[in-house]
Amino acid sequence: MTYEIPAGAVRILETLEAAGHEAYLVGGCVRDLLRGTEPHDLDICTSAKPEQTKACFAGSKVLKTGIKHGTLTVVEDGTSYEVTTYRVEQGYSDRRHPDAVIFVPDLYEDLRRRDFTVNAIAMDRRGTFQDPFDGRGDIQRKLLRCVGEPDRRLREDGLRVMRGLRFAASLSYLVEEETAAALHRNRGMLKHVAAERIRAELCKLLTGVGAAAILRDYPDVLLEFWPELGPLMELEQHNPWHCWGGWEHTLHAVDAAPDDQILRLTMLLHDIGKPSCKRTDERGIDHFHGHQAVGAEMADRMLRTLRFDNRTRQEVTALIAVHDDRLTAGESDVRRRLNRMGPERFFRLLEVIRADKLGQNPEKAGAILAELPRIRASAEAILAERQCLTLRELAVNGQDVLAAGVEPGRAVGRVLDGLLERVLCGDTPNERDALLALIRNRT
Ligand code: ATP
Ligand code: MG
Repeated sequence: MTYEIPAGAVRILETLEAAGHEAYLVGGCVRDLLRGTEPHDLDICTSAKPEQTKACFAGSKVLKTGIKHGTLTVVEDGTSYEVTTYRVEQGYSDRRHPDAVIFVPDLYEDLRRRDFTVNAIAMDRRGTFQDPFDGRGDIQRKLLRCVGEPDRRLREDGLRVMRGLRFAASLSYLVEEETAAALHRNRGMLKHVAAERIRAELCKLLTGVGAAAILRDYPDVLLEFWPELGPLMELEQHNPWHCWGGWEHTLHAVDAAPDDQILRLTMLLHDIGKPSCKRTDERGIDHFHGHQAVGAEMADRMLRTLRFDNRTRQEVTALIAVHDDRLTAGESDVRRRLNRMGPERFFRLLEVIRADKLGQNPEKAGAILAELPRIRASAEAILAERQCLTLRELAVNGQDVLAAGVEPGRAVGRVLDGLLERVLCGDTPNERDALLALIRNRT
């Protein structure tokens, strides 16, 4: 293990032990330590009741936000640690939230209620493990397995279905056979899970290294919350650009995209409009005219269903709306795109096109793939030279237009827009005299 447990966490474990309680690191952090990756937060579990925990940290900053569920947040050296009393959850009558949280004296009981074996390992400050379900063995085997009987565990809490797919994708683990069968069987449990929670797990799934493999293995689970994917999963495309059907192409494109949430979501949904736009010509070749706009609209609705934030929704749909546009490295083309979508979205679009083409027939897509670095270089040069891309950078402004005798009002904006367009096209340099001459000579 190369990662050193922060002194603050060790101090918490020591303090609890010194007061006669048991205390362990537990859950995701122990799993990540054993995998040799850095945990993003350290959770601690303890035999101490919340009041006892509080008494142990009288001199520290303690937040009581989760106290009903037995969790106190202890702040050490500016880092927050969640310290949770051993507990089990009782009854899930709404299939979502446990009816009650019951504190238990025994670590085993606490580990037993956890979802997957790799998440049910505890480690004390001396590095001694408590691992009653052989989570360490499963980490070695790279295997995701429910703690206890899979069907029962997934029926207790439907979110675990999504968590299962998420962990399998982010850890790139195989799903143990019984667990896999139960994930399929209990997919309907997702109907009882809040959209926000499905969304959070889906995002982690999509950015995982094993995302495409999991999407390929669990299409039925995806359909529970996004039935709109159904026709894409069935889509055949007889077209020289494609060597796969719609779904397999989508999975290749997801896999080829950088592990960024917006890009992965865009690739998952980029061809969602294709099934309803499919037309087969007399030679038997399929065409998908209009699928960008239709897809952007469908994606918008799907992202709303899962309550994605506005920025993500706007970005993903804007990219889908142009993902199949043919870009060139020509300066005027690049300048116009940079003007319309801004540099950030433009560079994202290059990634989208790259991922899309990597999922297509290599014989056809090769030329476009080869062009992408040139387009990128062209954009970088334009930006480095601080060429004029917006009205703000134009060498003349509204005052100049008025001074040339244009009526105040909308006409001023129209003149400026026209000038900017000419500069973007390369018809006119962005120079004050040249632009003033154009204003004077306007017809
Ligand atoms: P991450 O690294 O993404 O935070 P994690 O394993 O820490 O992964 P959390 O959601 O932070 O996941 O949960 C912490 C621990 O609580 C898990 O490792 C697991 O033991 C347990 N847990 C969380 N959610 C559930 C659940 N729905 N059912 C059972 N156990 C759960
Ligand atoms: Mg965690």
